[in-house]
Amino acid sequence: MSHALKQVFNKDKTFRPKRKFEPGTQRFELHKKAQASLNAGLDLKVAVQLPPGEEQNDWVAVHVVDFFNRINLIYGTISDYCTEQSCPVMSGGPRYEYRWQDEHKYRKPTALSAPQYMNLLMDWIEVQINNEDIFPTNVGTPFPRNFLPVVKKILSRLFRVFVHVYIHHFDRITQMGSEAHVNTCYKHFYYFVKEFNLIDTKELEPLKEMTAQMCH
Ligand SMILES: [Zn+2]
Repeated sequence: MSHALKQVFNKDKTFRPKRKFEPGTQRFELHKKAQASLNAGLDLKVAVQLPPGEEQNDWVAVHVVDFFNRINLIYGTISDYCTEQSCPVMSGGPRYEYRWQDEHKYRKPTALSAPQYMNLLMDWIEVQINNEDIFPTNVGTPFPRNFLPVVKKILSRLFRVFVHVYIHHFDRITQMGSEAHVNTCYKHFYYFVKEFNLIDTKELEPLKEMTAQMCH
């Protein structure tokens, strides 16, 4: 792919429309509630806890969509620096290499470049969260039986974006002055997955030391 073409390709992928909660729906109210506790400066560890009287799946759904939007934007800010040349392998340092697998083209785990992997990852999550059968828009529509397994997979994959960004592109994050912003998003994400036990400890390993310093 030519350089110019790749830029356009990247741009399209970076500025994908955010999944929004429709005003007036109960899920929108829940989204606002989650936002409000954050804006109130509540401790992130407390802010992720299920508010009394709310359904856990609703609370989880709102957060998954929110994290997708935020992490997608974070990757967008460095995606021009994450290229076939800079990152020919989707990795988190020399010890961790991620392979992509899906139900379409890559039925066997396949080593891909980081930008290719990220595009597939974001596309895949977008399809999941826009699927009414998995993420019903209206509170009251029951969640499917496979809701939590799908959520766990989404969050594990989103965690890999943090791993790659922190280990390979943190200099860029610092240059842009968005370190604090990324760290806050990471902490929020980490406390959330811990609160509801949504990611295997093994998956969290690449950032274990950093997490121990950041989240007490
Ligand atoms: Zn990269």
